[in-house]
Amino acid sequence: MADTGPNSAQHDAGTDGPETKAKRDIIALGIVVASIIMFVGTGSSVLPQIARMLAGHGGGPDAMLSNALLLNIALVIFGWRRYAELTGEVRERRRAEEQARILAETDPLTGCLNRRSIAAHADELIAAALERGQGVALVMLDLDNFKAVNDLHGHGAGDTLLRTAAQRIARHLPEQALLARIGGDEFACVVAYDRDHAEVIDQLATDLTQDVARPVPHGELAIEATVSVGLARVVEPGTDMAQTLMHMADIAMYQAKKLGRNGFCWFDPVMESELRFRGELETGIRRGIGLREFVPYYEKQIDLATGQLVGFEMLARWKSPTLGVVSPEIFIPVAEEIGAIAELSEALIRQALVDARYWHPRLTLSVNISPVQLRDPWFAQKLLKLLVEANFPPSRLEIEITETCLHDNLGLVKSLITSLKNQGVRISLDDFGTGYSSLSQLRSLPFDRIKIDRSFITTLPHNKDSATIVRSIIAMGQGLGLPVTAEGVETPQVLEALQQFGPVKAQGYLYGKPGPAEAIESELERMDLLLPAAALIGDEAAVPAEPEPRQARRA
Ligand code: C2E
Ligand code: CA
Ligand code: CA
Repeated sequence: MADTGPNSAQHDAGTDGPETKAKRDIIALGIVVASIIMFVGTGSSVLPQIARMLAGHGGGPDAMLSNALLLNIALVIFGWRRYAELTGEVRERRRAEEQARILAETDPLTGCLNRRSIAAHADELIAAALERGQGVALVMLDLDNFKAVNDLHGHGAGDTLLRTAAQRIARHLPEQALLARIGGDEFACVVAYDRDHAEVIDQLATDLTQDVARPVPHGELAIEATVSVGLARVVEPGTDMAQTLMHMADIAMYQAKKLGRNGFCWFDPVMESELRFRGELETGIRRGIGLREFVPYYEKQIDLATGQLVGFEMLARWKSPTLGVVSPEIFIPVAEEIGAIAELSEALIRQALVDARYWHPRLTLSVNISPVQLRDPWFAQKLLKLLVEANFPPSRLEIEITETCLHDNLGLVKSLITSLKNQGVRISLDDFGTGYSSLSQLRSLPFDRIKIDRSFITTLPHNKDSATIVRSIIAMGQGLGLPVTAEGVETPQVLEALQQFGPVKAQGYLYGKPGPAEAIESELERMDLLLPAAALIGDEAAVPAEPEPRQARRA
């Protein structure tokens, strides 16, 4: 079994304490030695005198010498006792210091090394293993659902889980390997292995994930927990190897979590640059919202029956000072994960409502809503508040939600949709055909429109299946009384095919790429679909101060 404690590691005991003691030991020893010499000196005179006296050949011993001899005996006894005492004290102190060191180096709950001590021990182990020509791997383990166990069953259960996990991990590790608990539910092992049999580390990771995942008994309970494992190996010798390995294994561990947990992943340098980019995105998004780097672009929506422009879909763009114009496909998922999507979306919608108030009142505005936003029970109220603030008629707003929203929490989504619909906001089901919405869901939720995913539309002219799917969706929409929009119309051929299938609205690059508010305004002005600013003057107070007013932007 692995050496989980630091006991085997070689360490110097405390610093000045024992040395000072040792010096004092020497003084005590000196006194004893001097006393012995003097005892021998005086004793050699006094003892023969006593012997002669006892034999009746002379008087008693010299009184002075006798006193000196007695004093010497006392000194020898005193010195010896002092010496013995000091030696005992030093021994005791060494023991206490060793105890303190062990306490400082180990995790009291599991008996493993702790975060502070693993690095030094690991560096020693790595250096020795490399010298022997072995490889060294760092195995980083993180329990997947530790917080849930704590929350659900209490800290006692959490402690049992950690102790058991430590024991189970330790029994798979070879002798001399190190095991540390480096965080709440994180463990790190450092293992030397034969370079010709690197597969033993993969096997170890498999064994660890399987063993830790076995139910852990705790009273009446059986706690279930899985573990994600990151692996990193020494590629070339260098300084601070333990720290470097920990960093790499940590990144690999996050990758293992990302890939669905309960598994392991080897570190790859690509992960690091991805992680750095991801970090840049996160800080950039948080900062960019306040700095108004996120702007709405607009894509035209055309009614194919009349050929008329009927509205616009707002599509977010990030004008990042460092990354340039970033696609929503990159920043929306990150904003969702870091909990910034609601703030980001609100800022965009607020601006879009200001922009759209200058459009002809028959033009609608569609906005995309993330599934994350629909988990907020106050979402409907927040959206309606934005409409009131912008003095924008709810009937001109359409929200687009994807099928994934429906799987998350159908009940809540249903009530949100209903309250928005009651206020006149319309609801579209976006990206239709890519998810798993059943026909019964389509009927049970009061959608106003379905939007066929662009993957079917772009492939329409040369893919029979796509054509069949698009035709059926349009027919189904007609049957259910649900208007249909086809997105991603790029060519006249696609347009022609669509027109044959039935009445649809269309949007896509055929009508121009999405553009910023200024470009849209110029175009609307040419089409005589832009309200003169004067028409809205009486209304101006209703426009909140936060979004950029149109006049300011044009100036
Ligand atoms: P979506 O809602 O399906 O938007 C349509 C996407 O297809 C847009 O990409 C649009 O620029 C692109 N597109 C339109 N016509 C064509 C065409 O003819 N050919 C091709 N190849 N592409 C076309 P974009 O703007 O990159 O947006 C991507 C996705 O990001 C959107 O897909 C939407 O799901 C999401 N998104 C955009 N803005 C927001 C937002 O404000 N909030 C949320 N939650 N998601 C947004
Ligand atoms: Ca959309
Ligand atoms: Ca779509």
